[in-house]
Amino acid sequence: MNPSLNLMDLEELTSNAKQIQEDVLEEILTLNANTEYLHRFLHGSSDKVLFKKNVPVVTYDDVKPYIERVANGEPSDVISGGPITMFLRSTGTSGGKQKVFPVNDKYIEKLGYVIALRSLAMSKHFDSGGEQGKAMEFHCTKPPSETPSGLPVFAVFSSFFMSDYFKNRPSKCNSEYTSPDQIILCPDHNQSLYCHPLCGLVQRDEVVRVGAAFAFVLVRAIDFLEKHWKELCSNIRSGHVSEWITDLEGRNAVSTILRGPDSILADVIEQECSHKSWEGIITRLWPKAKYIDCIITGQMSQYIPMLEFYSNKLPIVSTTYGSSESTFGMNMDPLCKPQDTSYTCAPNISYFEFLPVDHKGDMASIVDLVDVKLGCYYEPVVTNYFGLHRYLIGDILQVTGFYNNTPQFRFVHRKNVVLSVRSETTTEEDILKALNHVGLVLESSDLMLMGFTCYADISTFPGHYVFYWELKAKDVQDVFELEEKVMVKCCSLLEESFDEVYRKNRSKDECIGPLEIRVVQQGTFDSLMEYFISQGGSIAQYKTPICINSSEALAVLENKVLARFFSEKSPPLDS
Ligand code: AMP
Repeated sequence: MNPSLNLMDLEELTSNAKQIQEDVLEEILTLNANTEYLHRFLHGSSDKVLFKKNVPVVTYDDVKPYIERVANGEPSDVISGGPITMFLRSTGTSGGKQKVFPVNDKYIEKLGYVIALRSLAMSKHFDSGGEQGKAMEFHCTKPPSETPSGLPVFAVFSSFFMSDYFKNRPSKCNSEYTSPDQIILCPDHNQSLYCHPLCGLVQRDEVVRVGAAFAFVLVRAIDFLEKHWKELCSNIRSGHVSEWITDLEGRNAVSTILRGPDSILADVIEQECSHKSWEGIITRLWPKAKYIDCIITGQMSQYIPMLEFYSNKLPIVSTTYGSSESTFGMNMDPLCKPQDTSYTCAPNISYFEFLPVDHKGDMASIVDLVDVKLGCYYEPVVTNYFGLHRYLIGDILQVTGFYNNTPQFRFVHRKNVVLSVRSETTTEEDILKALNHVGLVLESSDLMLMGFTCYADISTFPGHYVFYWELKAKDVQDVFELEEKVMVKCCSLLEESFDEVYRKNRSKDECIGPLEIRVVQQGTFDSLMEYFISQGGSIAQYKTPICINSSEALAVLENKVLARFFSEKSPPLDS
């Protein structure tokens, strides 16, 4: 695949989705027909009709034994017709379990291809030079672990940034990022988190976009900046990088960018960062920034108000949707409101089928990419080049429209992530909507929600929903006091926005107890992230789980609870 694309390629790709999908399936079946896995169902045939008839729709547990055998040293063709040269580790924080997926360099190429497509889509909207400049993006990597047979296991973004594909990218000669590659590749996250803004501040007049892979990383980076700006200014003033930046390659690369003492720049930054409020800090520090680039849909949508506050409401562009199983698609309307983001499927990446959410066990209701219906909800089923066949991704998407002949999808929520105490099922989407509902109350109290998660506590009767909230004052120098009245109101508002089944269980039947908010100390959600990273995840890919069911993760939160608040009255029922 050639990443030197033009707008016509984009139009062609999306106009011919049906044929492209047919070709992709044929190619995959020809490649994989003789793997042990597919042979069980197709007996060496690569017939597409037989594939749909015989190959079952599966989840991770079904394919795990095959994947593990390859990881333990058996040949790739247990599952994949092509060579397996590495594994990708999914974060496991959204679905609950850690999973690894076999891939090879072709995955990286395809990811690079979608990134190139996404840049094309962006260029359509910023053709007046908005894209000409540099990106200050908070990317980081984590060195791979190894399977028992010695193959590397990467997080997706690490596999991309540590690949030859990235190292030898054509755009590198234009230094499209303010940070040198050595900072993206630095194995110490804190050192890279420090050096990214240092390089970005020194080149502040060239920065046209500020971003990270996921919104969470960007919010964390701003928090880090809030704690370290004085030291950054002092480095800029003296022209020397702090001694604790010990990664030699990174240190040398940053020193070259610093170019000696600059007290005028240090004064400007000091003045901006000394404001009592950090409202608009992104545009004040990087005045030419045109937009924020990070994934802000799904779990990340909780960070929209915060990023709007820090960026003076610059457009927040959520460009891509994908997973370790397969890259999926890109946002063709980048300047839409973040809440309205849809992703257009790239039909040449994998073979995509869609299982209607209300299939009621009827697997024959599965449809091809081009046959999905507007407004309907589906779970994507992926057949990729590396050994996953008809694999359920575990996300729920809604069809929002078509770009040429290719469907566009809104990310609705992760499947199975629900709170339930009795008969109600509260989805990830319901929880995010409820949080939106309390946004105004928090705003009028000058508070920001830095992180949240929740679980259904059924250890006592009646069980109840528990939310953990990390709050912060909007004005950086303010130490906030929690007002009981405000917090109790937030509890009630959350309950009011849940559906009728919840409210009935809570009000009439008293089978659900009052909702509780436990406010935790600042930094708690960093500790939660560290806990998950210690289990093998990577920061760049991390997503704070909306619901938690691991007792170890809950213990991290419980140790940091500052105060508890309960809803005081039952939510009203619909008349
Ligand atoms: P991982 O395999 O760890 O990379 O996680 C992949 C999962 O992250 C997907 O299945 C989604 O649940 C979530 N995800 C990835 N991209 C997006 C996006 N643009 N919007 C919402 N959720 C996303």
